[in-house]
Amino acid sequence: MTAEDMDGAAVAATMFENLKADVEEFVQRFGRRPVLATVLVGDDPASHTYVRMKANRSRSVGIDSMRIEIPAQATTDEVVARIRELSEDPSVDGILLQHPVPPHVDGRAAFEAIDSSKDVDGVTFASFAKMGLGASGFHAATPGGILALLDAYDVPLAGKHAVVVGRSPILGKPVGLLLLERDATVTYCHSKTRDLESIVATADIVIAAVGRPELIQGAWIKPGAVVIDAGYNPGNVGDVEYTKAREVARLITPVPGGVGPMTIATLLRQTVAAALEREASPA
Ligand code: NAP
Repeated sequence: MTAEDMDGAAVAATMFENLKADVEEFVQRFGRRPVLATVLVGDDPASHTYVRMKANRSRSVGIDSMRIEIPAQATTDEVVARIRELSEDPSVDGILLQHPVPPHVDGRAAFEAIDSSKDVDGVTFASFAKMGLGASGFHAATPGGILALLDAYDVPLAGKHAVVVGRSPILGKPVGLLLLERDATVTYCHSKTRDLESIVATADIVIAAVGRPELIQGAWIKPGAVVIDAGYNPGNVGDVEYTKAREVARLITPVPGGVGPMTIATLLRQTVAAALEREASPA
């Protein structure tokens, strides 16, 4: 069997087209555009690139973006104060804090300065709790994008064994909770997991969320499995040994062009939802 690629770029492109129409309708109804504030702390070149990509994509669907750059030497208090201002700014609908922040800044404190009604990247405790309890709210963007991609390919989740490799707060942990909410049987693996290979070999759905090039070998994949590779390593290499895994899987995400575009699409969809919510119940 040779797997079909899960074309996240194409699925996201459809989402962007739909969002464009939603934004135009929003403009007609409310006489303004949704606004996404992106906050960048420090000079990390990769973070600059990510923020630029997100701003360009926002513009392409008609969302205004407000870019806030905070110097690398800023203290936690200064970062928190700036984000609180955005939380209180009535012209801002959504806030994205690009992570990681410099090591001397308390990233959790910075996230918690985001008002939960503007947490379109789904990073606050409040968003995480709502997601974990199956209440409506904003999903962490990459996990939300992964679920949207699985749905776009009609992948059945109920009763399936999903193995999530990685348990970070922004990716592994939340994607497992979203799969559990959809009635998958979820196993988490991490750096202390013993015999990763034999656990992955039992998975109907593999979610790779580690950040180690080709850690998950093609030979481990159960024939017919669905393989989602959220990892991104230098040189456009994922966490899964793509060419080998493709020979046995049913569906597989390429890197790049799989999960990445779905993350941005989810972020922007949630920004439009936040703007609509604010218009429906103004503060
Ligand atoms: P992270 O915070 O570094 O977490 C990595 C996770 O992998 C940890 O839970 C760690 O376990 C686990 N791990 C490390 N070595 C392992 C091993 N040998 N076997 C099993 N598990 C192992 O990383 P992250 O932020 O979740 O990101 C993971 C990857 O996803 C990165 O490549 C990142 O670039 C990519 N990413 C992509 C997107 C996107 O939009 N496409 C978004 C976010 C992240 P412990 O908890 O035990 O340390």
